[in-house]
Amino acid sequence: MYEDLTRPQCSVLTQLCTAHIGLNVFPFRFRLAPSPNCPLCLVPETVSHYLLACPLFCHQCLALILHIGTAQLSLRRLLSVKVDHAPVLSYVCDTGRLPRYAL
Ligand SMILES: [Zn+2]
Repeated sequence: MYEDLTRPQCSVLTQLCTAHIGLNVFPFRFRLAPSPNCPLCLVPETVSHYLLACPLFCHQCLALILHIGTAQLSLRRLLSVKVDHAPVLSYVCDTGRLPRYAL
């Protein structure tokens, strides 16, 4: 599916697409996180919140917008198989929110 990417890069993209990733919503389902919410915003820390809405990562989001060339971001646009994944992978790396991935 992601032929030109490393295994960790494929893993993080797949997990972002499936929402089975270490943001609070998913581990909370298994009682591995104390809350499903973003600690800053107090709303569910979903993939959408993480990539598109959380002010905690506004600087990284601005870099994402500049890299992609539009502020009209959507999960579909960011995670589609046919797009350049470098901006999203840089975002994940730069936020430090998913430290388990050595990207
Ligand atoms: Zn937030």
